[in-house]
Amino acid sequence: MEQSIESYIKNLVRDTIVHTIGELQVQKDRQTYIIANWKMNKTLAETAEFFQQINSSQDVAVVVCPPTQLLYPAHLFIQQSKKTIGLGGQNVHWAEKGAYTGETSTSMLKDVGCEYVIIGHSERRQYANEDDELVNRKVKQALNDGLTPIVCIGETLGQKNSLQTEHVLSTQLLGALKGIDSSKFIIAYEPVWAIGTGQSATAELAQQTHAYIRTVLKQILGEKADNISILYGGSANESNAAEYSAMPDIDGVLVGGASLNAQSFDGIINVFAKGEQSE
Ligand code: PEP
Repeated sequence: MEQSIESYIKNLVRDTIVHTIGELQVQKDRQTYIIANWKMNKTLAETAEFFQQINSSQDVAVVVCPPTQLLYPAHLFIQQSKKTIGLGGQNVHWAEKGAYTGETSTSMLKDVGCEYVIIGHSERRQYANEDDELVNRKVKQALNDGLTPIVCIGETLGQKNSLQTEHVLSTQLLGALKGIDSSKFIIAYEPVWAIGTGQSATAELAQQTHAYIRTVLKQILGEKADNISILYGGSANESNAAEYSAMPDIDGVLVGGASLNAQSFDGIINVFAKGEQSE
């Protein structure tokens, strides 16, 4: 298909930026994470198969977040495979324990081998009405109990179009991190309009937004903010991973759809691992 001059120039500029940043060999001292969010997908048999097929990497931290009932079998499959893969929950309750039917506590997650937990995913904000205050309680409980929270933030399409992205992100960050002085968490920037839509954010937009997120983190936590990994999430896949990996403030990806297939997820891991080796 013929390209218009405008899109040719846009692609040329984008490729030049990505190439130049790659050439500068930006030093990322932060841990790179490739995290799978399976959402409400996969059977036990599919889980077993996934961990047989997947590869881990020395260069990046790989974490898989299956649905709750698959956590313990996943833990055993990882142990059997002898691969270095972390395990995380997709949600957690803020209380230590008690009369909360259907909920899962931080100690329960740890008991079945989890070290991580996703908190404040936009689907939970949307379907379970989670707000920043609830996210904050969950983050505090996770940190108190030694789990690493993966805190999700992101603007909707309407908020993006009305130029509210920075306001939304700073409000979500300040709310989620209220009263917290630890930096032992991960941030996932997941623009809601990019999740599951195939409309991924360009690497340049994601980089610009991550740099903004880091300035807000600095206001909250000072210099510690430099150590916090900020991941991009939203239709990330094998084909766009290299562009994200070349960006100085993109410390990995949180992957939904493309993490369900072991080959695709492996492809993303390999792209980021290669990026680490060339630095
Ligand atoms: C997600 O829901 O965390 C996500 C990033 O989904 P997808 O990769 O399918 O857009």
